[in-house]
Amino acid sequence: MKSYRYAVIGNSAAAVNACDAIRSLDGEGSLAVFSEERYRCYSRPLISYLVAGEVSAHGMYYRPARYYQNMGIDFHAGVKVTSLDPAGHLLVTREGEKVKWRKLLLATGFRPFIPPIEGLEEVDYLTFVDWDDAKRMLRLTAKPVASLVIGAGLIGMKAAEALHARGSAVTVVEKMERVLPLALDERASAMVSERCRRENIGIITGQSVSRLEPRGGHRGKAVLEDGSEVPFDLLVVAVGVRPRVELAEEAGLECAGGVLVDKHQRTSHEDVFAAGDAVKAMDLVRGEPAVNALWPIAALQGKYAGMNMAGREVPYPGGNSMNAVEFFGLPVLSAGVVNPPDATYEVITRQGDDGDYRKVVLRGDVLVGMLVAGNIERAGILTSLIQERANVRRVKGFLLEEGFGHIHFPRSVREERIIEAVAGLPKPAGEKAGAGKGKARADRGKGRAR
Ligand SMILES: Cc1cc2nc3c(=O)[nH]c(=O)nc-3n(C[C@H](O)[C@H](O)[C@H](O)COP(=O)(O)OP(=O)(O)OC[C@H]3O[C@@H](n4cnc5c(N)ncnc54)[C@H](O)[C@@H]3O)c2cc1C
Repeated sequence: MKSYRYAVIGNSAAAVNACDAIRSLDGEGSLAVFSEERYRCYSRPLISYLVAGEVSAHGMYYRPARYYQNMGIDFHAGVKVTSLDPAGHLLVTREGEKVKWRKLLLATGFRPFIPPIEGLEEVDYLTFVDWDDAKRMLRLTAKPVASLVIGAGLIGMKAAEALHARGSAVTVVEKMERVLPLALDERASAMVSERCRRENIGIITGQSVSRLEPRGGHRGKAVLEDGSEVPFDLLVVAVGVRPRVELAEEAGLECAGGVLVDKHQRTSHEDVFAAGDAVKAMDLVRGEPAVNALWPIAALQGKYAGMNMAGREVPYPGGNSMNAVEFFGLPVLSAGVVNPPDATYEVITRQGDDGDYRKVVLRGDVLVGMLVAGNIERAGILTSLIQERANVRRVKGFLLEEGFGHIHFPRSVREERIIEAVAGLPKPAGEKAGAGKGKARADRGKGRAR
């Protein structure tokens, strides 16, 4: 029976960053990755750009071809893990192979939610979540087709954009009142819808699909709530994703809408860790664990899980929701609370003459959310203020200025931030590791004394 010091289930953002972190601390311990998909790790968010012809197949990869070999990783491509026995430190693959491990990472990600729509089972639809889906979409749009996308969330809208780029006539049906309802507010959603309509993408909001009438293979007709009909040659179902927790649940690990982990990304079994879209971990803005199905968050959790698996006890600093997307030349950046649930939040907005839209959401003196559509230059500073839970009382009046930046902070705060930034820079050749940080700490002390 094969036996590894570290076993990783999954091979995406969380998994690969965990492997990097493990190897940064333990160059020797045997390490295996089990991946149901056959590809070496690729950037899932790029599948729409691949279909649109904006990214080549080569450009999809997140790590070089010799990554697994160079990192001393036993890569089990196309191997699904079907059961886990945490007490026995054992996993079993679909082929029935049993594998022993000492530390395990669950990085199983998400699965698309399939709504119970009458007739759906008889249509050969796509969910547009992986490279195979992108290949299928490319094949099915070799000739222009009429496509219907159910769901105007991030995945649905990216699918719509990709289909449009392939020359498809696209209709999007969303049961909420606007597109990208979670990531954007009403005004920014309207800006995105307007861009889509200009490109002749049909956007139907506030309507669900009541039933589907299959017409063989990928073809069919959707009947909407109001009785209107949308015929299609290709259907994409993108109404949301769910953490992929079945392995964890069957193994008796604690789950509640996601695998539950402590601050070290450790599950309810001390030798099993979890990271990424499958996991509920600390959300800095909400102040409680949440699933944030985002690539950078999965990567960060993976990194911390990996370090903890390799024995360095470091707590995950937490993350928050953030979306940076561009639809038909309209860049949109949002983070944290975009649609405040009640009046305890303060909302400040600004609509620029050039059509740009900016919004910040505060709770007391803390910035908890932001949204910028149009000119997103310098908006990054707002996202870092959210991440830092910074007190913005003294700069509140400037937050929405296009030129908002460090210059608006009081001098002492500016100095702190510059020192932090310098501490994060690569060390000049010859400087000892840690010297930069030590100096930064010393400098910070000086700043306070002044
Ligand atoms: C079209 C699209 C666009 C997106 N755009 C963005 C974006 O713009 N910005 C952003 O931040 N995020 C975006 N995302 C989300 C982002 O891709 C995810 O947050 C990220 O991929 C999560 O990484 P992960 O490591 O948790 O797992 P996943 O990427 O979900 O990968 C999990 C892997 O584990 C494998 N696996 C699961 N169970 C098993 C098992 N039992 N045995 C073996 N293997 C298993 C799966 O096959 C899969 O390969 C997008 C997603 C999609 C689909």
